[in-house]
Amino acid sequence: MTALRIDGKAFAATLAAALGAEIAASASGGVVPGLAVVLVGDDPASAIYVANKERTAKQLGFHSVGHRLPASAGEAEVLALVRALNADPAIDGILVQLPLPKGIDARRIIDAIDPAKDVDGLTAVNAGRLVLGEAGLVPCTPLGCLLLLDAFGGPLAGAHAVVIGRSNLVGKPIAQLLLQRDCTVTMAHSRTRDLPAVVRGADIVIAAVGRPEMVRGSWIKPGAVVIDVGINRLPAPPDGKGRIVGDVAYAEAAEVARAITPVPGGVGPMTIACLLRNTWQACRTRRGLSAAGP
Ligand code: NDP
Repeated sequence: MTALRIDGKAFAATLAAALGAEIAASASGGVVPGLAVVLVGDDPASAIYVANKERTAKQLGFHSVGHRLPASAGEAEVLALVRALNADPAIDGILVQLPLPKGIDARRIIDAIDPAKDVDGLTAVNAGRLVLGEAGLVPCTPLGCLLLLDAFGGPLAGAHAVVIGRSNLVGKPIAQLLLQRDCTVTMAHSRTRDLPAVVRGADIVIAAVGRPEMVRGSWIKPGAVVIDVGINRLPAPPDGKGRIVGDVAYAEAAEVARAITPVPGGVGPMTIACLLRNTWQACRTRRGLSAAGP
């Protein structure tokens, strides 16, 4: 069997186009959703992520505002900026790019964000709503995984999903989303015994570990659906270019799985699309507009 290659890039582009059309229509009625992205320090990877988010937001017609603070900025300065953005009526979504420089308590900063503007879905309030099954803003990467599963993964109810990784950013919220959709969810992590055997029982595998090609093809149950969240940069060999791989050995797994996301071009593009989807959702909720939308 050669698996269906789930084209997250194309799917995210379709999602973004639908969003852009809604925002153009809303702008003609005078409503423009606003997204503020805060970058503290000079982490090069974060700078690239932030630039991509801002560029895509502008392309789709969002009011996009970037705030750059030096690595020397203290927690009080970042908190003051977040509070000012909370109070700014033109801003519907606030994203503070992680990781924050040492010495700044990321939890305190995130929890200072107004939950109604928490488009990354990381405040304790939105995390709690997710666990309780209440409406709220859901973390972008997990939401992107769910949208891909809905489009390409077949019925979720009753499926056994194994989520490898238990971070607050990815693993835990994905597990909650799958539980809400009636999957039987197993969460695996670095202390899990005999991980290959656990993964072999899965109809759906979500790999969110950060270890290049750790999940081998021999771990995958024939016909399973594999969502690879990992982004691992391999150093360049002396005679070539560095490359990015996921947490799953793609070529091996694609021989066995029914469908699989590539890295790059799978989950990654969905993250930005879902950030903008969340910002549009936050805008509609805050401004009392209809709940319809992509
Ligand atoms: P974290 O480092 O926060 O969490 C990694 C998780 O993997 C932990 O729960 C850890 O277990 C588990 N783990 C580590 N080693 C093993 C192992 N040998 N066996 C089983 N489990 C293991 O990472 P994130 O959740 O933030 O990110 C995971 C990956 O997803 C990274 O590659 C990251 O770059 C990528 N990512 C991609 C995004 C996208 O847009 N596509 C967005 C966000 C992240 P334990 O808890 O026991 O330590």
